[in-house]
This record gives sequence, structure tokens and C-alpha cells, in this order.
Amino acid sequence: MNTQKSTVVDVTARSTEKPLLSVRNLKVWYELKRFGFLHAGYVKAVDNVSFDLPRGEAIAVVGESGCGKSSLMKAILGLVHPHDGEILFEGKNIWEGGREAMRAYRMQVGYVQQDPYGALPPFMTIKRILEEPLILAGVKDKKKRLERIIRSLEEVKVSPPEDFLNKYPHMLSGGQQQRVVIARALIRDPKMLIADEPVSMLDASVRVEILKLLDEVQKERNLSVIYITHDLSTVRYFSERIFVMYAGKLIEKASTHEILHNPKHPYTLALLNAISDPLAENATKLRDIPPGEPPSLVSPPPGCRFHPRCEKAIKGLCEVKEPRHVQVGERHTVACWLYDEERE
Ligand code: SF4
Repeated sequence: MNTQKSTVVDVTARSTEKPLLSVRNLKVWYELKRFGFLHAGYVKAVDNVSFDLPRGEAIAVVGESGCGKSSLMKAILGLVHPHDGEILFEGKNIWEGGREAMRAYRMQVGYVQQDPYGALPPFMTIKRILEEPLILAGVKDKKKRLERIIRSLEEVKVSPPEDFLNKYPHMLSGGQQQRVVIARALIRDPKMLIADEPVSMLDASVRVEILKLLDEVQKERNLSVIYITHDLSTVRYFSERIFVMYAGKLIEKASTHEILHNPKHPYTLALLNAISDPLAENATKLRDIPPGEPPSLVSPPPGCRFHPRCEKAIKGLCEVKEPRHVQVGERHTVACWLYDEERE
């Protein structure tokens, strides 16, 4: 068995670089109230998650719907306050420093939404949609704003850009709308981009084009990217590392190559086994596998949260004690007792 030492820091990140983003022991818990005021527990959507994201790296967070990946994204965007833990951007806690500091942080983060049509105001022209973030950023010169808008549309291959400036979102195809959403996310030259299921609402024929576009802009701009998806079949297009998330926890972290060719966690293995044709319209989605339902996040199972669905569960251990992350290869960690030599 390839078992190594337990990990405290994120050994799966590029070790030589100071991370752009550090997430430390993050908990995003939502309080439940009975009769509107009596404390009735928490929904533990993100529970003790840690990772580092260096500059210029793209990572994918993969998990079934309801696993907590959206809450993780919202916390990183500064939209929900964590119950506990830290989110450090360039070494500073994003929640320390008040409203101005949060505003300055958000200026450095681009966000690509899942539903491009819903993300674009229907009553605004493409020019106006792209101009707004520049106005908010204090770009006063109209000519400069227009130049920047044209460049942005060119970058996302909406061409010729001049033909789109006075169009409204409903006049564009789904793929063109998502390109405009990406242009808006990039127009202020952010250091980090968060892409939330950016292709899940697009036709299969357009998905690969959009993923390739994201890959291109990520490399050209040396952007740090967090790609949130439920679809493991799409991650190979541009993520350097994959984090597999289950019931509020990151259960396996490794390079994309390692996850796809040398997965360790029984859940990751099940996900990969279920992918037959990654580009097929009806490709198997994570929600269909493995058999069983993800647990409640209000009262998750003790021990390993995957144990009720795990065929390899070790009786008397997995249902009692939570596994820690152990290193099982270069830049590869997994939270599973099968790989922890201290399980005896
Ligand atoms: Fe299965 Fe146990 Fe590993 Fe959890 S810790 S994935 S239950 S073997």
C-alpha cells in the first residue's frame, strides 16, 4: 500500500509559489431556526475545507449537487460569511478590513455564472453590460472604455465585436451569451476567476468550445481559476488539479492526471467508472452514481461521510472515526482509511 504521512498544508499545490488564495479550515454552516428564532442546528454545507491556489493555476472542484461546492464558491466570492476558518487572498483575510477592502477584493475576482441568459440583464445592450464594470472600476474615459469592450469581445471570439455592441442578450445564441459573460468577468483584468458550472446549460456542441476558450484565457492571462462542476467528464479540458467534494468535505485532491489515471478514493473511482463517453449529450452525471443518496448535511453520518455508500468500508472504523487526508503520491492526498497506515 502506498501510504505516506498525514498532511497539514496543501501538498498538492505547487510548493514553490506563495498562493494567491489560501482557504484554511473553512466552515460554511447555515443556522436552522424553529419558529423563526429557536436554534435548531446547522446545515454544514462546507466543513473544514483547506487548500491553496497558486497564481496561474486552474483547479476544478467536482461533486454531486448538494455537496457544498456552491457554498464554497459563495464564501470565496465573499457572498456568505464563514462560520469558521479563513479565506486569505494575497495573504490577507478577505473578511478583515471592512467594506472597502471587500470591494477591492471583489474587483480582483471574476465570476462566470452557470446560466448565461439569467446572468445578463435583458434590457441592456452588450455594450452597456460590458461598460458597467468599467464605470464601477472608475474608468472615466468613454473612448478607453469602448476600446476595452472591443478588445474583450475579441478575446472571447465574439466577432466582429462592432456587430454585437447594440444587440440585446436575447438576440445572441447560448454560446455567444456565455462568451459575453466571460468577457464581463475578465474586463477588469482580475487575478482570479470563478467559473460556476459554466457549460452545464449549453448544448453539447458548444461546451467544448467554451471550455477551450476558458483554457486559452487562463493560460494567456496566467489566471488562477476555480472551476466548479458536477461533471467530471469536463475537467480534463483545463484544470491542473481536481478536488473531489463529498458531503461538505474535500475527500481527494490531486493533479488532473492523477485523479483520472490513479484515483484512490472509492467515491472518485465510482465517478470515473460511470463516465463512458464524456462528450455525449447523455453522458452519465455525478448525481446518478454511485447508488444511494448523499447524506443530510444537517446530521451527516459519523466517521467517513461516504461509509453508508461505500463497498469497501472497514467495519468498526469507517462508521466511527473520520479519516484524515494522507499523502498517497506526489501532489496527491486522499481522506480514506484504506490508505492510512495508522488505522490499526
Ligand atoms: Fe470507504 Fe472507509 Fe474509505 Fe470512507 S474511509 S471511503 S468508508 S473505505
